Amino acid sequence: MTASSLLAAIEIAVFDPSSRGTLTLTGLCPDWLKGLAEPGVPIAAEEVFPFLTGFLEVAATIWNDREQRPLLSDIWVQTNRDGDDIALRATAATVEGMPFLLIQRLGEEFEERQSALQRSRDRGLDNERLERIARELSLATAEAEKTVQEKSDFLAGMSHDLRTPLNAMFGFTTILLQERAGSLNLKQRGYLEQIRHAAEHLQSLISDILDLSRIEAGFLDLRAEEFPLEDALGEVIETIAPLADAKAIRVCCAPADLRVAQAIYADRTRFLQILFNLLSNAIKFTSRGGTVSVSATTLPGEVEISVADTGRGIPPEELTAIFGKFHQVRLPGDGGGAGLGLTITRRLVEQHGGEIRVESVPGSGSRFIFRLPFRR
Ligand code: ADP
Repeated sequence: MTASSLLAAIEIAVFDPSSRGTLTLTGLCPDWLKGLAEPGVPIAAEEVFPFLTGFLEVAATIWNDREQRPLLSDIWVQTNRDGDDIALRATAATVEGMPFLLIQRLGEEFEERQSALQRSRDRGLDNERLERIARELSLATAEAEKTVQEKSDFLAGMSHDLRTPLNAMFGFTTILLQERAGSLNLKQRGYLEQIRHAAEHLQSLISDILDLSRIEAGFLDLRAEEFPLEDALGEVIETIAPLADAKAIRVCCAPADLRVAQAIYADRTRFLQILFNLLSNAIKFTSRGGTVSVSATTLPGEVEISVADTGRGIPPEELTAIFGKFHQVRLPGDGGGAGLGLTITRRLVEQHGGEIRVESVPGSGSRFIFRLPFRR
């Protein structure tokens, strides 16, 4: 299974069912659920998922008994906000003592077969044909279940299996570059630096794919804390300095504004990741000698941070699409990148309860602006 088909396959909503009769979405809201539920906001289970009424009563006993063995619902079809019929299946389980309800969309192929079955029923077709379609449906269900299993195996295995050989590559190239295994001529040093550069690139691709998989599966936990915004900005700018220096790009912060935003309440590591993604893009898409500036302002209850550059800009018709998975506006000579950085950035901002937007003038530059809640 490729990374993109794997990511496309993750269509799960994770709910906390701990208060009776209501469900609270804990991970991100998958597209099929938009308009029906929002992270952190309790919904009446009976209204949004009427099919689940009986199932939830049985599930309550599993959650009360802290039973770890998952309970699977039957498959049901309901119409989403866009008027499409979608096939869903729920799983109730207790994980580390906490009750969970997962609702999984079973995919278009499954839905087509389900509607074919419905159409045949409507037309009163013969039993033999109905049975054949029903058999196909149950095969499709088994395939969908296999995909979910593959996804969690993939996440567990990928982390370890891909990072181990990379660590060996970093370790041994460092030993060779430090000439601890004999002296190097210029050509050998150059080749080794290329190997290290390629390994770094691969490492960042792997982290992006794993991050996005975790976010989409609702497995990414934020550990929010209060910290000075100014320190965090300084830290990212220091990390990014070698990239900027290599292209003689000036990175400036607006100090007057920064003093306004003394503290922020967010997951520090993920906040640094958001800033790093935006700043590294700003440097990547700005020519030699350009400028990148970061500023921050406080608004009522929110802090707004902007990363602006004097780079090549983004065509108006691409301003929304660039936040989509694997989407890139590629020009000849563009370096690596998987087109996942902005997707992850947007998801991380949203998971903090914030939002991100971009403004751009092609040929003059771009400005990415994101807002985060400014309080606990
Ligand atoms: P990647 O940088 O790996 O291509 P991203 O998701 O970070 O992936 O960005 C997607 C696309 O958005 C980029 O390929 C580029 O075309 C465009 N983009 C992002 N940031 C900028 C920027 N600051 N200036 C111009 N284009 C940008």
